[in-house]
Amino acid sequence: MPEIYQNLFPEFFYKEIKKETIATCDNCIMLEGNNPIKNMSFYLKETKCCTFFPFIPNYMVGLILKEGSEYGQAAVRKLISERVGISPKGISPGKKYQLDFELSREKGFGQNLSLKCPFLDSDVDCSIWEARGAVCATYFCRNVCGYDGEQFWHSVKNYLSAAEQKLARYAILETDKNLAITKNKPDNRFCFSADEIDQTQSPDYETIWGKWLGREEIFFQYCYEKIEKLNAESFEKLMGIENDFLFVSLEKSYEEMMFPILPDRLMLNPEATFTRESNSFILNVYSGSFNISDVFFEVLNCFTGEFNVAETISNIGENPGIEIDEELLVNLYQNRVLIGC
Ligand code: SF4
Ligand code: SF4
Repeated sequence: MPEIYQNLFPEFFYKEIKKETIATCDNCIMLEGNNPIKNMSFYLKETKCCTFFPFIPNYMVGLILKEGSEYGQAAVRKLISERVGISPKGISPGKKYQLDFELSREKGFGQNLSLKCPFLDSDVDCSIWEARGAVCATYFCRNVCGYDGEQFWHSVKNYLSAAEQKLARYAILETDKNLAITKNKPDNRFCFSADEIDQTQSPDYETIWGKWLGREEIFFQYCYEKIEKLNAESFEKLMGIENDFLFVSLEKSYEEMMFPILPDRLMLNPEATFTRESNSFILNVYSGSFNISDVFFEVLNCFTGEFNVAETISNIGENPGIEIDEELLVNLYQNRVLIGC
């Protein structure tokens, strides 16, 4: 979690969680050669999963400009000088980038150099780690607790995104409330103006920034100073009812991730697919791909939901090399290889 939130966020965020040890970013498991699964869609070594342009709220932009890495500061300055996606709320991708990203995310995520994040440095490391946005702070390509882990991180992302919006607005109001004026014009994501196609400065950029035009960097640094001074009590007030609302999902997903309860009856997920390899199968489920032996394939197919878990294990009997214990079942359940029925 970015350090700036440590004095602001509620106690919940200090709870113990399981370390995400599968997503080994320094030795990225989504690069060819680092993953035992063959024939999968690997990511580019020049980008890894950073084919994404995150929203960076104004106060985080200020943090980068004040205390960030040389690369991070240069990237921010370049984006500000280009005047695309720069608003008092912070830095966002331009509309064309957003559409390209949406069009490619399902089939081509991690595979387009043109979508490389502007903050990814020449060593393929994040240059704004302490100021990274909600999506980046909560993304793991694989989760130790499978689907339940993913759901938990989604809930954290939603909380962080809401906090980013509130804090960015607060920073604007505290710095210059004239910058809070927005145009109430509905936007069509498939309808582009000339500047949006060419990714150049929009005609209303000067109006939006008013007296801060050319001084955007100073504005962002003021925003950071406002948030730096905030305490947990003021933050709670800012979040208001949204805090309670988002905590319902946060707490539920935390419980399900940390203390999963196995359903009485389990069956093989009908959405799981298997691909035959020479001596094994590749099992594909939503949470990832797994290499499994022929014996394990047969074991999984014994979970039909007809009997409860204890009866199914007893029917399977002894299998060489596979101990069907609680830990294994929980793992299969959290990855939704087996589902309740
Ligand atoms: S989270 Fe990204 S960098 Fe980390 S292992 Fe997964 S794909 Fe690689
Ligand atoms: S901000 Fe950092 S972690 Fe996020 S996409 Fe860019 S380089 Fe990757």
